[in-house]
Amino acid sequence: MFGRFNFVKKEKTDYKPTIRPPYYNQEQDFELCLDCEDKPCIVSCEENIIYLKDHKPSLEFQSGGCTYCDDCAVACPSGVLDIKYKKYIKASFKIDTIKCMSWQGTMCFSCKDPCGEGAIVFDGLFKPIIDDSLCTSCGFCVKPCPTVAIEIFENKKENIC
Ligand code: SF4
Ligand code: SF4
Ligand code: SF4
Repeated sequence: MFGRFNFVKKEKTDYKPTIRPPYYNQEQDFELCLDCEDKPCIVSCEENIIYLKDHKPSLEFQSGGCTYCDDCAVACPSGVLDIKYKKYIKASFKIDTIKCMSWQGTMCFSCKDPCGEGAIVFDGLFKPIIDDSLCTSCGFCVKPCPTVAIEIFENKKENIC
């Protein structure tokens, strides 16, 4: 009984959403990445946020955020990532009010300052929320959060930068 519970819990904890770099046309194009041996997009990213998921580039935000610098698109030799497809990262960010220190009554603004868009808005001193209309999905708020309270979801945001 407990063994099964632990297994299910571990699966959920290990889940990482598939968040692509912000320069692709269609998901199928990432099949070309399987033949790209050097994966120069990964090396090109100074924020070190591109990793391989199923041999294809995906983003995680534990070491930094996306500056929309174009470097991964320039480095891609296969046309999978290309500046002409530049758009906001298809992801949305949400604060888990159970994990968030502020929502639980301890003052914390660690996510607010790194957000260059002013998208993290506090209702009073203790209730931060992310304003999706301002958020550019850069992910810079994720790393500073001491309780890993910022959740990331795949979504269909298509706005052009
Ligand atoms: S645009 Fe720049 S910061 Fe963003 S994933 Fe590509 S190389 Fe990294
Ligand atoms: S992901 Fe959104 S809320 Fe977080 S720092 Fe970037 S713009 Fe701000
Ligand atoms: S950094 Fe994390 S714990 Fe602090 S207010 Fe933001 S979401 Fe809450």
